[in-house]
Amino acid sequence: MESFQDEERRTRAKAAKALNVAADLFRAPIAFIASARSGSAGEAPDVIALCGEAADGDRLRPVLDHLSPDWPTVLTEPADFEAIGAAASATRDIRFFAAVPMPAPETRGTRWFGIADIVTRRTISQRQIEALTDLGHLAADEIDVPELSGSQVDKFVDHSSLAFVTVDDAGKIRFANEAFAKLLGYDRRELLGAPVDIIVPERMKSAHHAGLARVVSGKASKLVGKGVEVSAVRRDGTEFPIELLLSVWPDGNSIGFGAVIRDISERRTREVRLLRLARNDTLTGLCNHHYFRELVEARLEDGEAATVLYLDLDGFRDLTDVLGHTTGDYLLQAVAIRLPSLLDENAIVARAGEDRFAILLAGVGDVLVADEVATRILTAFQTPFEIDHCAYQLGVRIGCAIAPAHGEKADELLASADFALHHAHQNDTRPFRLFERSMCLAADTRRRVQDELRRALRDGELEMYFQPQIAFSDGAVIGAEALIRWNHPERGLLGPSAILPALEDSALSLSIGWWTLDEACRKAAHWRDLGFDAIHVGVNLFRSQYLSGALPQRVTAALRRYDIPAHMLELEVTETITLHDDERSLAVARDLRNLGVRIALDDFGTGFASLRTLKNFPLTTLKIDRGFVQDLPTSKQSAAIVHSMLAMSRDLGFVTVAEGVETREQEGILRDFGCQTAQGYLYGRPMQAAALTELLERNNASPLRAFA
Ligand code: C2E
Ligand code: CA
Ligand code: CA
Repeated sequence: MESFQDEERRTRAKAAKALNVAADLFRAPIAFIASARSGSAGEAPDVIALCGEAADGDRLRPVLDHLSPDWPTVLTEPADFEAIGAAASATRDIRFFAAVPMPAPETRGTRWFGIADIVTRRTISQRQIEALTDLGHLAADEIDVPELSGSQVDKFVDHSSLAFVTVDDAGKIRFANEAFAKLLGYDRRELLGAPVDIIVPERMKSAHHAGLARVVSGKASKLVGKGVEVSAVRRDGTEFPIELLLSVWPDGNSIGFGAVIRDISERRTREVRLLRLARNDTLTGLCNHHYFRELVEARLEDGEAATVLYLDLDGFRDLTDVLGHTTGDYLLQAVAIRLPSLLDENAIVARAGEDRFAILLAGVGDVLVADEVATRILTAFQTPFEIDHCAYQLGVRIGCAIAPAHGEKADELLASADFALHHAHQNDTRPFRLFERSMCLAADTRRRVQDELRRALRDGELEMYFQPQIAFSDGAVIGAEALIRWNHPERGLLGPSAILPALEDSALSLSIGWWTLDEACRKAAHWRDLGFDAIHVGVNLFRSQYLSGALPQRVTAALRRYDIPAHMLELEVTETITLHDDERSLAVARDLRNLGVRIALDDFGTGFASLRTLKNFPLTTLKIDRGFVQDLPTSKQSAAIVHSMLAMSRDLGFVTVAEGVETREQEGILRDFGCQTAQGYLYGRPMQAAALTELLERNNASPLRAFA
């Protein structure tokens, strides 16, 4: 509780101007503000603010402490002028005072604003009363502003568990409280003056800067006043979800920004849990997959016919990689609006995955109807989706299954639709497939081959072959690409086409992938022991290896196990595996480069690598796809492409390897174009390790003759 003294001190400070003016104006030695002590109505008021003091001997002290019945001069007129009888034993020398009531909030008792004098005054004019009244109002205005003193605001902000930050128009942090610094893992001092975008994830930085610039240029912020959920980055690089409440204010000629932020990781986790229980997808408002399944189940239990369609958006991920997730979300919402508009009102549309939708046509058991609906959807997707005045073309693939023929139970029916969708991906002319039994068979086959491969891996039937890569300048073997082969007990030597289609991102692809890495390093160690430590061995990576999160550790372990220098290992990645230019795949590549291993971009020219990704991605080598090399002598277009690929690769500082060189003619053109290294049947087919050892030794003795 605030003490009376505190209140007095504060009120005096705030009302000082009015009190001083009153004392001056009335040429009175004393001006005061008095209030009735609570609970003592009718009693003497306490002076709660005073300007001027009465001398009492050699000391100065407050006057008007008590009501004094023998107060000599009380002016009681005119009527609206209220005088207070107030005096004290200690203030006997006061001979005159006049006071007016002050406006006061209801919570306070009556207050008076007045002057007092030690000499008797006989009159006070109406104008003086008005002046006193005005001053009383002025004082009241000063005193009664809802208050939070500066120091209190500071204390509040400092001790708040909410994180506060203010930023100037250049995006620099002007103030951050302790909670903010702690939340983001910084020391408070290092935050001051730092650009606030250090807490903004890389992918959102451009949007952040654009937003800041927009507000600084005088446009309204889209975020002010709304709590928005975004991501922030801590000092150690970890990301976490925050809720951000932004305010903007004019600051001199410019603009200041302030934000209160809150870590909402826990809430997110809770929401995710709740979401699973809930029926609706929060982004699109459609029902979620879980609920969709229940609805299908209910239909089938009723013994009704039902058709299920699964839809996959084609190229959606590539689009969001380029456009960002917000646009991706808008696109999904647009699809969620368009789909129901194409169907009759009994159809149920669900969001069944990131970019997957599902449709239930209850009561429909007719193939022709299903086909007609699919056609309607495919046609509708030919019209682009418009978002923020930009048109986006989205492809769609549809898989369809009809109950009861393709499944009597919900799970079975949905699995059938899923198979059909999978096959729709393999058909570009009309991306719609109805389920067929043979699709299951294909899955069965895949499983069977996987089982057999698992056994083959265990029994040592897999073997790495090596194909040499040579330098045009002197014909020296500079490296070899490791290519997998299967010594099948019945079918003989099999190439990758007998192995890879069955793997498809499976766990087995990881086992086999780690084995190829290990095997290639083992052979590299052997060649190193023979003195060939300047060559490199190329290993093709599976997508699963790249995405596993364990690649850098696996590579480190393999290098260490065989004690080979990192430059002897070259990892071959394809554009589809890695080059999505997202932070994660870039980070993996950087980790690998930091280990010192080489990274080659395989089959260059067949994927979608943009110049920007090429520049950002820490490559050492570019391998021009065989297709271009093959056509070199006959196709002007291929020649032009190869020519510019070589120039670009050189500019970016990469080594270029031409793949699939089979003829001297192709070689001649490549040399003319300035290509320096190549791989192809002309120099050697993939061969067993022992054969490559022989070639290395021969080549070492006389490089140019080895390929003559
Ligand atoms: P790739 O990475 O482009 O490998 C080069 C392929 O071209 C090899 O086929 C090689 O035998 C073939 N080739 C090389 N020179 C010539 C030539 O002058 N003319 C012709 N017509 N072909 C040539 P292969 O061994 O059948 O491998 C096919 C694909 O399988 C490889 O293409 C690679 O993508 C994949 N692959 C092979 N081994 C592995 C492996 O161990 N791991 C992974 N993840 N993928 C592998
Ligand atoms: Ca390769
Ligand atoms: Ca290749």
